[in-house]
Amino acid sequence: MESQKKSSRNFSFEFFPPRNEDGRAKLRETVEQLAQLKPKFFSVTFGAGGSTREGTYETVKSIQAMGQQAAPHISCIGTTRADIRALLDSYRKLGIRHLVTLRGDLPKDAPKTGGDFHYANELVSFIRAETGGEFYLEVAAYPEFHPESPSPESDIRHFADKVRAGANSAMTQYFYNVDAYWRFVEEAAAQGVNVPIVPGIMPITNYKQLTRFSDACGAEIPRWIRRRLEGFGEDLDSIRAFGLDVTTVLCDKLLEGGAPGLHFYTLNRAGPTCTVWERLGL
Ligand code: FAD
Repeated sequence: MESQKKSSRNFSFEFFPPRNEDGRAKLRETVEQLAQLKPKFFSVTFGAGGSTREGTYETVKSIQAMGQQAAPHISCIGTTRADIRALLDSYRKLGIRHLVTLRGDLPKDAPKTGGDFHYANELVSFIRAETGGEFYLEVAAYPEFHPESPSPESDIRHFADKVRAGANSAMTQYFYNVDAYWRFVEEAAAQGVNVPIVPGIMPITNYKQLTRFSDACGAEIPRWIRRRLEGFGEDLDSIRAFGLDVTTVLCDKLLEGGAPGLHFYTLNRAGPTCTVWERLGL
């Protein structure tokens, strides 16, 4: 029997497309391990400006070939309607019916101007206009707000627009402040959003990498966590032990509070997610 924490909630795991054969072999092992946890789906990121278009497609194909549900991410910035139409067509032929729809960011070293889309809500509207209800669409949400947004109110309003355009559910940027998530959910509900907003979880295992990601995406590492992690210096075992404790408590609070599921940023590794999962008793 499924545990109460797990039943009827959406658990999913995110990967990035591996760059070489070694990475592809490792990812297949990771998928095998994580598949035992019976997630709803595995999602695969789309490199900035479509830089991993082929890699995303091939990774999705290989996950499907392993009998698992896959959801490709699609970003629209710098792309045309014809590009998106072709992408939808290729995924439709694979039997994919679940997409994570994003605006995305252009690669810093190759800023491509032009394209038919400015924001993710336009991509959602376009896919709905082209394909009706054929695809289940996820969008991104930011409990600590998107770094470009001029104000929390504006970010939540635009998030609600994206849902009104036809998104079925949302997954958040990772965060370590539980209150920020619940406040965001409450304020989105006040704007008429009643789709599931699934918390994004980044298991803490590597302080330097976490700082780099957080600087780029605007997710705050609370001072007490940062200071503890800094205090461990190069002691990677202690960073990992403390980091996975913090991550487990975060997930536990979210599930106890009624979050509709969890979306793990796995960084293509099964270990940290499996550890948190076991500790949660899922
Ligand atoms: P949008 O929803 O379009 O929002 C972008 C900004 O514009 C926000 O500040 C918003 O408030 C503002 N805005 C929105 N609509 C309007 C409007 N009409 N007028 C004025 N302002 C507006 N990136 C990738 O490149 N590939 C990935 O695979 C990927 N996967 C992700 C998965 C998740 C779960 C998350 C949370 C993020 C992911 N990202 C990915 C990062 C994401 O692409 C960036 O955060 C990007 O900067 C914003 O994308 P978005 O879809 O949230 O954009």
